[in-house]
Amino acid sequence: MQERTYLDWNATAPLRREARAAMAAAWDLFGNPSSVHAEGRRARGLVEDARVSVADAVGGRPHNVIFTSGGTEANTLALTPSSGKHKQDIDNLIVSSIEHASVLAGGRFALDRVARLPVHRSGLVDLDGLRTLLAQGPPALVSIMLANNETGAIQPVAEAAHLVHEAGGLLHVDAVQAIGKIHISIKELNIDLLSISAHKIGGPKGMGALVFAENQIRPSALIRGGGQEQGGRAGTENVPGIAGFGAAVMAAETGRTTNMARVQTLRNRLEDGLRQTPGSVIFSQEIARLPNTTLFGVPTLKAETAVIRFDLEGVAVSSGSACSSGKVQPSHVLEAMGYGPEMTRSALRFSLGWETTEADVDRAIKTWRKLSGALLRRDETGLELF
Ligand code: PLP
Repeated sequence: MQERTYLDWNATAPLRREARAAMAAAWDLFGNPSSVHAEGRRARGLVEDARVSVADAVGGRPHNVIFTSGGTEANTLALTPSSGKHKQDIDNLIVSSIEHASVLAGGRFALDRVARLPVHRSGLVDLDGLRTLLAQGPPALVSIMLANNETGAIQPVAEAAHLVHEAGGLLHVDAVQAIGKIHISIKELNIDLLSISAHKIGGPKGMGALVFAENQIRPSALIRGGGQEQGGRAGTENVPGIAGFGAAVMAAETGRTTNMARVQTLRNRLEDGLRQTPGSVIFSQEIARLPNTTLFGVPTLKAETAVIRFDLEGVAVSSGSACSSGKVQPSHVLEAMGYGPEMTRSALRFSLGWETTEADVDRAIKTWRKLSGALLRRDETGLELF
C-alpha cells in the first residue's frame, strides 16, 4: 500500500495510544455509573477521573463539566435561551460569522434572533462590531470561537468577554480547535461556557464536553430523562468513550508546549515552501494563529481538484472547510473575511499534528511543486484541465 502523509489534523486526529488503552480497559468495567454497587462504582470512578482531566485541561472545575456526544452537541447545549444565571431567558444570540456550522445553526435560538458578528480581513472578529451589536438590544449570549478551524486565527476572547459582561451578557467559546494546541483557561479568559471535542486531540469520535465557569450558569438540558450529568444530559454515560477522552486530554496537555513548538517549526517550513508560488496567500499570517494550521490560497486554483490530486499522490489535505455532503462549498470563513469567489474556492488547508514529521512536510511541498503547474493552468475557455 502507498505510504500516506496525513495533513488534515484539524478534521480529526488518530486515536492516541493512551486513549486506546484506557478504552480497552473500560470495556471490561461494564457497570452502570449510576448504580450503587461495586460494579457501578468502578465505572463511576472512570467517569469522574476523566472529568478531572478534562476540567484540568481548561482550568475549570470537575463539577462544571458535562460530557456530550462531541463538539456539535456541546455547542448546541450551550446555545440556549435559558441558563441558570438569568431569571429570564436571553432572547438574542450573537455569533461570529466564522463559527463552525454547529454554532451558526443557532442552537436552540430562533434563527431570527441570531445576529452575525463581522470579522476583519485578517480573520479576527470585529470587536467594535460586537460593541455595536451589544448596544442594540437586551443582554445577549455571544459565541466566539477560540481558534478558527480553517485559518487557525486565535480570537480576542478575553477582550470579547469584557465587552459581553459589561453589557450583561454571557460568552460561549468553541475551543474545539484550540484544545491541545494552545493554553486554555476558562478562568483567565473569563469565559462562561466552553465547548471541546475528543477526536481532535486523539480521543474517540462522538465524545465532547461543555465546561461552565464558576457562576451558576447551567443551560437547560438538551437531552432530558434521567438525572445523569447533574441533570445536564440524560442517558447512561458512554464510559469507554469518556475514559478515552480523559486519557487523550491528559496526553495532549502533557508536553503540549514542546510538541506544539516542534509542530510550529514544521508548519513554518511548509509555509516557506508554499510561499514560493507567485500570487499565493497564506491567510491570517499577520495575526496569532494555531501552531499547526496553514490556509493557503492561489487565485484560480480549484481546491477540490487539488485535494483529489494530493490524495492520489498519497497526501491528505483539505479544502478550507470540510464538505459534509460530498459537495465543496466556498469557504464561509474567507467570505466573511471579505474575499471574493476567486479565493473562497481556492484555499487548501494543511493541518499538522503530533505525529507529523519533516519528511511529511517535505513530501507535501514536493507534491505541491509537482502538481501546481497543471493545477494552476487553464485552457483558453477557462475550463480546468482536470
Ligand atoms: N467546532 C469546531 C471549531 C470544529 O472544528 C468542529 C469539528 O470539525 C466542531 C465544532 C464539531 O465537533 P464534533 O466533530 O466533535 O461534533
